[in-house]
Amino acid sequence: MSDAANAVWVMAEQFEGKLKGVSFELLARGRKLADKLGTSLVSILIGHAVSGADMERLIKQGADAVYAVQDPKLACFVCETYAQVLEKLIRDYKPAILLAAATSSGRTLMPYTAIKVHTGLTADCTELDIEEGTGNLLQTRPAIGGNIMATIKTPDHRPQLATVRPKSSRPLPFDDSRKGEIRLIPYDPTLSGKGVEVMGLRREESGGAQLEEADVIVAGGRGLKKGENFALIHKLAGTLNAINGAAAVGASRDAVDRAWVSYPHQIGLSGKTVSPKVYIAAGISGAIQHLAGIKTSETIVSINIDPDANLHKLADLAIVGDVFQVIPELQKRLEARLGGK
Ligand SMILES: Cc1cc2nc3c(=O)[nH]c(=O)nc-3n(C[C@H](O)[C@H](O)[C@H](O)COP(=O)(O)OP(=O)(O)OC[C@H]3O[C@@H](n4cnc5c(N)ncnc54)[C@H](O)[C@@H]3O)c2cc1C
Repeated sequence: MSDAANAVWVMAEQFEGKLKGVSFELLARGRKLADKLGTSLVSILIGHAVSGADMERLIKQGADAVYAVQDPKLACFVCETYAQVLEKLIRDYKPAILLAAATSSGRTLMPYTAIKVHTGLTADCTELDIEEGTGNLLQTRPAIGGNIMATIKTPDHRPQLATVRPKSSRPLPFDDSRKGEIRLIPYDPTLSGKGVEVMGLRREESGGAQLEEADVIVAGGRGLKKGENFALIHKLAGTLNAINGAAAVGASRDAVDRAWVSYPHQIGLSGKTVSPKVYIAAGISGAIQHLAGIKTSETIVSINIDPDANLHKLADLAIVGDVFQVIPELQKRLEARLGGK
C-alpha cells in the first residue's frame, strides 16, 4: 500500500468516461517530484464510468496509486461538487503537493479548492522542482508579460497547489511491469454543489481536431494581411485533416486581436500550449510570447518573407517566402496526393 500522507497527487481528467491526455502528462511531472521527495505518486480521479483498465494505465504510466471517486453525479465537471470531494480527500489523506492541468476545469477547480483548504496556488507553471533541504515545491512560471521567470514557494501551507500547462510535458512510456493500488472511494452525496444542476452537454463544433490534441497545426499570423485570407489556413488545415484526421487551425495573438479568427485558436503565453508533431506557422514573426506555446512541437515549419524572422531561428524548416505563394503551392501538392489516394 502506498503511504498516503505527504504524497504527490496529480489530478486525472475524464470526459464521458475516457481519460484525457493531460492525466498522463501530469503523471510524468509528478513522478519526478515524488522520486525526489522519496514519496509516492497518487493519481486522483473524480468522475464517472472510467474503466478499471484505464485506471491501470495510470499506474503503468507513472502512478503508485489511483484514488477514484466515481458516481453518475460526478460525470460532468461541476466545480462546487468536485471541490468538495477534493477537499474531503485532502483532509483525509494530507498530500504534500497537488498538481492539476491548466485546462478550463483545472483552472476553475484549483483556486476554489485552495481557498477551501487555506493554501496558496501557483497557476500555469512551466517548471516544477523540489528545493534541496526543505523539500518545498519550486513553482516556476512566466511573470511580467513573460519577460522574467518567477519561482514561487509555499513554505507554510500544505498541500502546495499548482497548475501546469497542458502539452508542456510528455507522458511516460507504458511500463507493464509497474504495480500499484487502485482505491475506490465511495462518493458521499452530501458533498454536492448546492443549487447546481447539470441540464445537458453542449459540444463546440470545431470542424477539425481539438488544438491541444492535434498532430498537425497550421497557424496564421499578421502576415496574412486581412481576415478573408485566413481561409487559406482553414483550407490547408482541412486538407491535412482529410489526410491524417488530426489537423487544426491555430493563430498568433495579433490575428486573434484583429478578429480574423476566434480566441480558442490563439497559441502562446496568453493562449494555448500545443505539442503537435508538425507546427506550420504562416506569417508569424515568432515573438517570445508565441514561442512559449509551441516549444514542445516536434517539427516546426516557418513560412515568412523576412529571412531574419525570429521563428525561422527556432524552425526545423524555415521557408523564406510569401505565404500567398507558398501555401497555395503546398495546398495544390497535398490535394494531388489526396486525389491520388
Ligand atoms: C502579455 C502578453 C501576452 C501575449 N500573448 C501572446 C500569445 O499568447 N500568442 C501570441 O501569438 N502573441 C502573444 N503576444 C503578442 C506578441 O508579443 C506578438 O505581438 C504577436 O505574437 C505577433 O503576432 P504575429 O507574429 O502574427 O505578428 P507580427 O509580429 O507583426 O509578424 C508578422 C510576420 O509576418 C511576416 N509577413 C508579412 N507579410 C508576409 C508574407 N506575405 N508572407 C510571409 N510572411 C509575411 C512578417 O515578416 C512578420 O514576421 C503577447 C504579448 C504580451 C505583451
